[in-house]
Parts: sequence; structure tokens; C-alpha cells
Amino acid sequence: MRVAVIGGGVTGVTAARTLHSLDSSIDVTVFDQGRGLGGRTSHRHVGSSTSAVIISPAAATSPESLRFDHGCQFFRADSFEFRSKILSGWLSSSAVAPWTPASGGDGDGDFFGLPSDPRPVYVGVGGFHSLTASLPPSVDVKQGVRVGGVERAGAQWDVLGVSGPEAFHDTKASSAPAFKDSSGVESLGLFDVVLLTDASQAQAGWHRASAGLPPSFLSLATRVTSRPRVALFTALVCFATPLATPLDCISPASSSIIWFASRTGSKPGVTAGTPCWTLVSRPSWAAGEIERVPMRDPTTGAFIPQDPDYLQSVDGPAKQMLAAFEACLGFALPSATFLTAQRWGSAMPAPANYAGGTVDVCGDTYATAHTLDLVLPEEGAGGGAGGGEESGDDFVDGGDLNMHFAGDFCSTKPPGVEAAALSGYHAAERIVQRKRKQNM
Ligand SMILES: Cc1cc2nc3c(=O)[nH]c(=O)nc-3n(C[C@H](O)[C@H](O)[C@H](O)COP(=O)(O)OP(=O)(O)OC[C@H]3O[C@@H](n4cnc5c(N)ncnc54)[C@H](O)[C@@H]3O)c2cc1C
Repeated sequence: MRVAVIGGGVTGVTAARTLHSLDSSIDVTVFDQGRGLGGRTSHRHVGSSTSAVIISPAAATSPESLRFDHGCQFFRADSFEFRSKILSGWLSSSAVAPWTPASGGDGDGDFFGLPSDPRPVYVGVGGFHSLTASLPPSVDVKQGVRVGGVERAGAQWDVLGVSGPEAFHDTKASSAPAFKDSSGVESLGLFDVVLLTDASQAQAGWHRASAGLPPSFLSLATRVTSRPRVALFTALVCFATPLATPLDCISPASSSIIWFASRTGSKPGVTAGTPCWTLVSRPSWAAGEIERVPMRDPTTGAFIPQDPDYLQSVDGPAKQMLAAFEACLGFALPSATFLTAQRWGSAMPAPANYAGGTVDVCGDTYATAHTLDLVLPEEGAGGGAGGGEESGDDFVDGGDLNMHFAGDFCSTKPPGVEAAALSGYHAAERIVQRKRKQNM
């Protein structure tokens, strides 16, 4: 059996590992359009060739030491199933470790439970990329390959894609033609089973991550496509000197812009020293920013990749977030030696029970809440606002189509790493069960 896993984030990598460990005869290929695996759990190590802005070169420390978890900040392990089936393996391979930051806030504790929920949280050791770094050698990993079409070929699926710079999410439209017009499109191989792992793969062709899925499958996947998205921005900033605070992270309830901020050097396996911070925006503020500067051309509908000139402009996200961070801390910050930002149009789905506001921008629905409930209730404490136990599959089982969808967008658990990993794990289990039934 040949399985194509499309997306090498936590969901895809967990699914690939699980497929391999349950049945090593399965031939698994992971495709990812990124420069490396990790997706939303990525780590950015800014090298000397960076194009990002060193805003005060005279004061800059070596660019080699600029490091940021620029998406996911940490993860929770609230369910017994996640701890026993997945976290234990990550801990024993030293891919992750507990993170015990000195944390503070205005008493709200509303970013994935920090700082008020006392249960442990975890991070990737030396950066979040460690979580998706080590796949068994027999799993074929194709990085920098964007899947843009999945078509029937007899009983199998023909997976079509492009590779090189035009696969990357942030390549300018002029040098990344629409998939169907691209001369570089090639067949990436025939597969018996396709596992999709990113909600954007179910988008129409305008979206750079669209996987060109057949209508027969898209009609099954409406629970993925209909879920409001939470957009977020992160700002990555390095200061000339350490900040005058004992805190490693803050979650300031009073800020309308900043939801969370953390210091890279407080995380295990990262050399402390360079004062690098990642700032995470509020969902409400990010939705407003995407209304102001949409991800699509309102006339042609074409995708607009995030542009460093916009992200770092005088009134752009990076500078607005830095000013808001200073206001949260209540003292003058040292000069920033490095500053850039990242737009996450689909940072996560709104929680399954989401009852807050939404806004439609060019056909996509974004949650406009100030904060979100992202914590699973204590086990034994019954259901709760966070979503609680799944009442059915936490992935989309395409049955005889042999095409499935996994990830936090499919789960009723609070979105995040825990929900994503469990979804990938369960989808892989089902693929193996079906293979055994069919004697493949
Ligand atoms: C700013 C931010 C902060 C967050 N903070 C936290 C937190 O503190 N705690 C927590 O638990 N969670 C957090 N999350 C959410 C968490 O990161 C996600 O739930 C989790 O990483 C989802 O993993 P995934 O594998 O499902 O998706 P992704 O990580 O998005 O992986 C999907 C992969 O698919 C690839 N891909 C997409 N389309 C294609 C295509 N057509 N062809 C090939 N490859 C493709 C992408 O490159 C990507 O690598 C945060 C997310 C963001 C953005």
C-alpha cells in the first residue's frame, strides 16, 4: 500500500510515524510545500543571508543567534490518551521537554491556559522544528513540493504538484503562476491512499495551498471548510539588551493587540543570551488587519502572498505589535535590532463551540473574538466550554474513496498541537485497520 501524506506539520508527521510503526510494509511519502517540515510548529533561525530587517545594524548581535518559534509557542497535554500514546514517545526521544516559564498577565491566563492553568506545558527542544524532525528513514519526505491536484487513476490517486520556489507559500504571484497554468506541474506518483492535513488544501484553486481536491471528497469535508478560521500575526523581535523584566512570557488581558509574548531563550535547548521575543496578536486584531489588507485581490480574486514591505511598514503589523508590547510592559523597551512579522491566515480553527463574532473577507470567515477557550477541562471534570471529548471521529474518513482529512480543523477538541496529533494518529490507525480488512 502506498500512502501520500500531504503536509508535514504535527498532524502529517504523527500520521506518518504511526503508519510506519503499525505496519512497516506501508510505503509512506510526506509532501510539504515548505522549506522544511513543521508547518505551524516551525522555528525560524535567522541566518546571515536573511532578507528580514536588521533595523539597527550597529547594535545587532550576530544574526546567527536570532531564533524564534514563530508559530506555535508551546502545547498542552491535557488528555490521558495524548500523554500515553504520543507525548511519551516525544519525551523519550528528547524531541520535546516541559517548559516552566516565569509567566505573568493581568489575571486572565487566556493563551492556551497560561499563566493561570497549573497543568504542565511543553515545547520542542532547541526549537519547535524538533517535533517534526525525525521520521523513520523509510518514510520518503519531499520538502518544497506543493500538491495542487489529486486525480483518479483507476483504483489509485495520481498526485500532481510543483517543486522549487513556486511551491513556497510566500513566493510572489508573478513568479508563481496558478497551478493549472504552471509548466512545472508533474505527477508525483500513484498512491492507494491520500491523507490531507491542512484546511487550506480544501480551498478553491486561488489559494496557494489548494490541493485541487475532487468534488466527491470536498462534499464530505464540509466540516473542515465551513469552520471559521482564527487569523493571527506574530512579530519576531530581538532587542539590543535584555528586557527589564523577570518574566519569560506574558498574556496581557488588557491589550487589544497582544495576546501572548515569549522569550526564546527561556525554552529548553535554546542558548539563552540573545533577547529574542515572539509576540502573538489577538484574533480580533488580526481579523481587522486582514480586512484592512486582504489576502486576496478583491477584483481578480488572486492570492496575495504576505509582503515583507507591508509587514514591516510604518503602520504594518510588526511595528504596531512592538509598540503594543511596550505599552503592555509599561516601560521603555531597549532598541530593537531585528524586527519582522508573519501573517497566519489560518492559525487555527475557531473552537468547536465558538459562539463569538465573525467577519467575511473575500469569501473566508474569520473569528473576531478577543480571546478563545483553548484548554481541555480536567479529566473527570465532565465536559466544558473547551470542547471536551470527541463524540465521533476526529478526522474525516473518506471510506472507499481512500482519501481522508486530519488535523485540528477536524477535531472538536480545543485547537492546537494536542488535537492535531491525535487526529493524525487516529486517521493512521483507521488506514491500517482498513488495509487489514481488505487484505492489502
Ligand atoms: C501563531 C500561532 C500560535 C500558536 N500557538 C499554539 C500554542 O501555543 N499551542 C498549541 O497547542 N497550538 C498553537 N497553535 C496551533 C498549532 O500550531 C496547530 O494546531 C498545529 O501546529 C497544527 O498542525 P497541523 O499539522 O495540523 O497543520 P500545519 O502545521 O499547518 O501543517 C500543514 C502542513 O501542510 C503543508 N501544506 C499545506 N498545503 C500543502 C500543499 N498543497 N502541498 C504540500 N504541502 C502543503 C504546509 O506547508 C504545512 O507544513 C498556534 C498556531 C499559530 C499559527
